[in-house]
Amino acid sequence: MIVAVTSGKGGTGKTLISTSLALSLEKPVLFIDADVEEPNAFLFLKPKIEKREFIYLPKPIVDDTKCKGCGKCAEVCQYNAIAVVKGQVLIFHELCHSCGACSIACPYQAIFEVDVEKGIIESGTVENIKFWQGKLTVGESSPTPLVKALKKKIPKDEIDTIIDTSPGTSCPVVEAVHGADFALLVTEPTPFGLHDLDLAVRMCDELRVKKGVLINRAGKGDELIEEYCEKRDIPVLDKIPLKREIAESYSKGETLAEEHKDKFQNLWEKIKKLVKIK
Ligand code: SF4
Ligand code: SF4
Repeated sequence: MIVAVTSGKGGTGKTLISTSLALSLEKPVLFIDADVEEPNAFLFLKPKIEKREFIYLPKPIVDDTKCKGCGKCAEVCQYNAIAVVKGQVLIFHELCHSCGACSIACPYQAIFEVDVEKGIIESGTVENIKFWQGKLTVGESSPTPLVKALKKKIPKDEIDTIIDTSPGTSCPVVEAVHGADFALLVTEPTPFGLHDLDLAVRMCDELRVKKGVLINRAGKGDELIEEYCEKRDIPVLDKIPLKREIAESYSKGETLAEEHKDKFQNLWEKIKKLVKIK
């Protein structure tokens, strides 16, 4: 079972939930921190990093001596990373997803590729958890190819997987959630929380990924989220109350696994049942 823990907006406590969930399960679990721009799950899990690997991805370069300015490369690029202006090819590398389509499509073999460092993938262990994380190289602006590379590197072990995605609904989140069996949507009971939850719900619908909601900092305004979920038949699987002690332990890098192990084990069982329903 692959469970993506995600949220429409930042600051909802998504990583606190995903790490608490992983530490509460007593069986082996694979934990992937796919928030490659700002991975922080290691602060809570404190894994022993055993392996590091630099990830290089191809970047297209135009050979001006061969280019005829036909514009074919710009036509095939799905990410608007190429423009051909007055016969001159302009490549916007920050938008490039290293898909290779432009070099294949060029009828004059005028595009060649060079490998550039995109980031680093680290793996290690802690307790029952096999831990993997990606870290985007500083200055790189497109995290999606690294998320893709991270997912490809993951061994196809027969163990359950928790993916901690970046917040939002942009490309790297879509890439991280794509192919999951379930998305746990962490939200807070505020109008902003509701607005961004709706975006996350719509993303899951597009990706055909089952979903459920966890309300963090619950207590005041929960009905806002509950009414929304009821209307759309989305289960509210659990709530974490707004408490000063929780905020204090969070600020010290402590999870909720020790004190609320049963709660998170129950949450996992609920997800498992929902995944099994056809
Ligand atoms: S497809 Fe090749 S020849 Fe045509 S504009 Fe692009 S690089 Fe130049
Ligand atoms: S490699 Fe793909 S994304 Fe990058 S410029 Fe070429 S077609 Fe566009």
